[in-house]
Parts: sequence; structure tokens; C-alpha cells
Amino acid sequence: MDTKPDVLAAIGNTPLIKLRRASEETGCTILGKAEFMNPGQSVKDRAALFIVEDAVRRGLLRPGGIIVEGTAGNTGIGLALVASVLGFRTLIVIPETQSQEKKDTLRLTGAELLEVPAVPYANPNNYVKVSGRLAERLAQSEPNGAIWANQFDNVANRQGHFETTGREIWEQTDRTVDGFVCAVGTGGTLAGVGMALKERNPRVQIALADPMGAALYSFFTTGELASSGSSITEGIGQGRITKNIEGAPVDVAFQIPDEEAVPIIFDLLEHEGLCLGGSSGINVAGAIRLARHLGPGHTIVTVLCDSGSRYQSKLFNPDFLRQRGLPVPAWLERKSAIDP
Ligand code: PMP
Repeated sequence: MDTKPDVLAAIGNTPLIKLRRASEETGCTILGKAEFMNPGQSVKDRAALFIVEDAVRRGLLRPGGIIVEGTAGNTGIGLALVASVLGFRTLIVIPETQSQEKKDTLRLTGAELLEVPAVPYANPNNYVKVSGRLAERLAQSEPNGAIWANQFDNVANRQGHFETTGREIWEQTDRTVDGFVCAVGTGGTLAGVGMALKERNPRVQIALADPMGAALYSFFTTGELASSGSSITEGIGQGRITKNIEGAPVDVAFQIPDEEAVPIIFDLLEHEGLCLGGSSGINVAGAIRLARHLGPGHTIVTVLCDSGSRYQSKLFNPDFLRQRGLPVPAWLERKSAIDP
């Protein structure tokens, strides 16, 4: 028998898939960690599981208790999934600008949603701050406990990637990985994987792929947080040093415009059967930059964070792309040439 006790045991151990065209183009072996194959279809299942398990271990949550979080979507989906298996409830505070698909999936996964206007972190009505205040209030009144998952500053998040994603990449590449690169939302993935790989081989190069509008490229190149421009990608693009990113061993940083990342998403779908969200485009663009930085013959790993099916109304919508001056691939508009 080869069975799993529950769906939580199916989180992680995702395949590492060779990205053919990016590899051919650079002379490196570029591999994508297929995190869209997790049960909640994103990289955030790992963080959700570690955060909830940590809260249970610390006695903060008992069956019937509430998990509160401010999230762009994927963490909420992961938390709702973990909560339903372990018998908790989930309350998600989400900026109303996030994709309809993610909101629908959150409701479908069993989360209760509170939509709030998208305002900067400095504003007290920012979704992260609203979720923190709500959790604090519920923690006083809920008999079975309430926690704030606090994915940005709760380091159980990066611990999850340290113990699982990083170790898996090391083992799956037979210890030959030369470089790892990804974008930052909370920083859990970059810091956790970066620390795990550096611990095993200090020569592994850890790189940040930052979208426009984020402040970390500036931080890791000049020491100052500064940003300009914007990106259509979701779930990434950080403006501050979160507890999860603090101390991340970053050797090199790249700034990736959407014009570079979005065609990669379409290319991977058209030629390699990979249907991915926008942050994966930033990551693969970052892997190509890191490959050029290190030179041919290296093994470079990045993260395929979530599925493109989560962004059909945006990234895969010709009108949405045109409005933002982004190129629309011919196949996205083409009607079938076959007459039924
Ligand atoms: N891509 C997507 C689609 C995400 O939802 C997230 C998480 N916000 C990330 C990338 C970034 O991961 P992390 O939070 O570990 O930095």
C-alpha cells in the first residue's frame, strides 16, 4: 500500500521540472520546483502547515479555534485547507483588488472572507494590520483560541521552507545545485531555501528576483529601501524587511520588469505545457538572469509558485494585457481553425 493519512501529508515533495527552453538558451540546467502541484495549488501550503502546526504545539489553538490572516490569496487557501483537516475555522482579510478566481477558491476551500480596500502598509486600514487587530480581539473571546497566522513576520513560515523546500532541492539535485533564485512576498521561500542550501554548501548562489514596484532590489544592492514602477504580478513585491526576509543570505539581486516576465509565462504554456501565474514568470526570468551571471554549465533552481488557472481574468485576458501595454500572444486570441 502506498497511501497518505490525509491531504496534509501530500503537501511538499513536489517535482523539480527541467525548463527546456530556458536551459537551452543559457547552457545551464534550469529547474522549476512545481509548487503548483501542492493540494492548495501553491507554494503557500507549506508555510500554512508549519504556521498552524506551530500554533497547535504552543497551545494557542484547539479544535474549533479560528485562524485569522491577511493574505493576497494563496496563503489563505493553504490555511483553509489545513484548517478543514484539523478542525479549525479560517477568517481571511483580502485586498479587494485580488483576482476573482482566488476569492472564489478561498470561499470554496471554506474560508470566511473580509474584503478591504487596497491601501499601503503604512495605513492602519491595510489588510495585514486589519487581520492582526481582528485576531487580537478574537483571541480574547474565542474559547478554543484564535491566532494571527502573521505570515510576513512569523518565522514558522521560513522554517517550513528551511526544513522541506530547501532540503528537497538539495536532495533532488543530488547536491549539485549551484544557484537558487525567487521573488519575495513574505520572504519565507527565499530565506528558508537560501539558508538551507547555504548550510549545506556555502558556495550556492542565492538570488532575489524582484518585480517592479518592490523595494528589495534596492535594499540588497544599495542598503536602502526604495521602489519605482509597478507589476501585474500578485503575491510578491515587498516594501519592507519582514522578519522572514531578515538575515536572508542574498548574494545577488535582479529587478525584473513585467515585459520580461509575462512573455516567459506564455512561452512556458505554449511550448512546455506549464500553466503558471505571474510570480513564476518573474522567477524564471530571474533564473535566466542568474544563469547568465554564473555562466554555462550550472544548475539553477527556481520556484513555480502557483497555477495560471488562478489568473484567467487577468494575466490570460487579452483586454487586461492590452490595457497595460503588455504583449498579447497570438494563440490567446486565435479562434479554433478546425471546423467541427
Ligand atoms: N508567488 C505567489 C503566487 C504567492 O502567493 C507568494 C506568496 N505571497 C509568493 C510567490 C512568494 O512567496 P513567499 O511569501 O514565500 O515570499
